Amino acid sequence: MNKFFTSVVKSLSLAILLLLFLPVLAQQKNNSDRPNIVIIISDDHAFQAISAYGSQLMQTPNMDRLAKGGALLNRAYVTNSICDPSRAVLLTGKYSHKNGFKDNETSVFDHGQDLFVKRLQEVGYETAWIGKQHLGNKPQGFDYWEILPGQGSYFNPDFLKMDGTRAHYEGYVSDIISDLTEGWLNERDASKPFCLVVGHKATHRTWMPDTGDLDMFENVTFPLPHNFYDGYEGREAAKVQDMTIAKTMIMGYDLKMLTGVENEGTVNRMTPEQRKKYQEFYGPIEADLKQRNLQGRELVEWKYQRYMKDYLATAASLDRNVGRVLDYLDENDLTDNTVVIYLSDQGFYLGEHGWFDKRFMYEESFRTPMFVRYPGVIKPGTVSDDFIMNLDIAPTLLDVANVEIPDDVQGESFLPVLSKKSATGRDAMFYHYYENGEHSVSPHFGIRTKRYKLIRFYKRVESWELFDLTKDANEMENLYGKPGYEKITAKLKKELGKLIEQYEDTEAAQVMAQKID
Ligand code: CA
Repeated sequence: MNKFFTSVVKSLSLAILLLLFLPVLAQQKNNSDRPNIVIIISDDHAFQAISAYGSQLMQTPNMDRLAKGGALLNRAYVTNSICDPSRAVLLTGKYSHKNGFKDNETSVFDHGQDLFVKRLQEVGYETAWIGKQHLGNKPQGFDYWEILPGQGSYFNPDFLKMDGTRAHYEGYVSDIISDLTEGWLNERDASKPFCLVVGHKATHRTWMPDTGDLDMFENVTFPLPHNFYDGYEGREAAKVQDMTIAKTMIMGYDLKMLTGVENEGTVNRMTPEQRKKYQEFYGPIEADLKQRNLQGRELVEWKYQRYMKDYLATAASLDRNVGRVLDYLDENDLTDNTVVIYLSDQGFYLGEHGWFDKRFMYEESFRTPMFVRYPGVIKPGTVSDDFIMNLDIAPTLLDVANVEIPDDVQGESFLPVLSKKSATGRDAMFYHYYENGEHSVSPHFGIRTKRYKLIRFYKRVESWELFDLTKDANEMENLYGKPGYEKITAKLKKELGKLIEQYEDTEAAQVMAQKID
């Protein structure tokens, strides 16, 4: 009896112990099932400058390596083609009018709102943002952050730290972001899955290459995009913009012709050694330019060549630093259990329509480069033509972590599409750009289907534009109001109206209600 009693007690104790530890065991199991997440988000990086996308301008071996290891997204788009609103969409999975960060000039990001990283924290992820975030200086949802103040600096940048202090690092910003990233990865709590966002400053204006990369493209003459001398016929908003290489690009500030009056702090932060390298490089170029006294188109094309050389050399360092993160994952046995997403906050013009900058719903800035590597789920070498948006990243990563996607998130997980479990993505995308200031780009919204794009400009310019992308991929001929397009226009307006209703965009709904034709 006594023996029996002891044995019952022992069994009960074992059962209680098991019950006590089961949740812990289950949590551990869940955590080991939950992959790590690395998002690398660059700034103003054009898909036209990435060899994985067929670019002839330069080689990007590390981006290509990421693309080959997972999926290359041919039709990845942003909801609002401008830096900080795009990052706000990334964090919330909601359009700008819902997350409250509509433009760079008047919006303040509410970090207190629901962010996907906060949901990841709840299920045991350790989260970090390192590099450029540019959504104020008090991030939330991150166990660790170290971010550039505002736009940050290419050389010898300061960083804001969690304890309210500023750190100052000597060196080139893209390298320093990798150093800090590796430092955090080394120090993290290895018992937890992690979600790390690496925010790069490159390739934002003013495209300052690392000193070792300055002459990388000196012997290359880049072909002019065929619509470089676009006259903007039939496209009023394109006509009134202020973002051309010809007129808007500044010789001193943008193109480092440093003895001019416009050196605007470009080199002020440099060490004497860095400054010497810049002066030794750009000095003779400037002297040669003065001596040649170029005018008109010759001068514009000279500016284009200089822009491309600087932009691409800046992108070369970005690519190397993407490689550093991939190397770290390889060397630390993390690759197989880590989802890696590379994207830019939007696309960028490399001379198409005569432009630099972004903002427009035209393809070069509406689109963004995006690669997604997810070993065991996405087949290496996948090429996707599905419509995927930056809006989808938050819900996708909640899906990855097996966390329920909140009802008010407006994006959709793209895992089913990319893993080919179900091949149907969205048929149409809604876009809305709000800012009405810098570069004089008119606010606009619109719809893009597989074949057509319909855009409504308002405030600065009141107009509609319609493009048939199968016939006019470069969006040069506005078909709106032309005979034969009445039916498709009416159909697209109806579909656009539905998307506006679906996403609850009241500003767009009000503009739609104003007839201008
Ligand atoms: Ca940007």
